Amino acid sequence: MKIKKGDNVQILTGKDRGRQGKVERVFVKELTLLIPGLNQYKKHRKPQGEGKPGEILTLDKPIAVSKVALVCTKCKQLTRVGYRFVDDKKIRVCRKCDADI
Ligand SMILES: [Zn+2]
Repeated sequence: MKIKKGDNVQILTGKDRGRQGKVERVFVKELTLLIPGLNQYKKHRKPQGEGKPGEILTLDKPIAVSKVALVCTKCKQLTRVGYRFVDDKKIRVCRKCDADI
């Protein structure tokens, strides 16, 4: 997974295209990300009986990793992730400016 928790990403498709947010959760198996405030949907809940009227909830829906691009913290550009190795450790780098991410 090239995107990690805490990364800033921009959405590339759909109604939130062009909007940016911070990754809060990464679902590795599903290859999706949860970004608070983005890719939201409204859920209509039926009344649950007396004193509990129905309501409309706004919830965040995980978005596919392929629909977002990483925003580099250094050059602020949309970028892809590259790797370099230092002492056998894998370090993520920005493909645009070569800064460590
Ligand atoms: Zn960069």
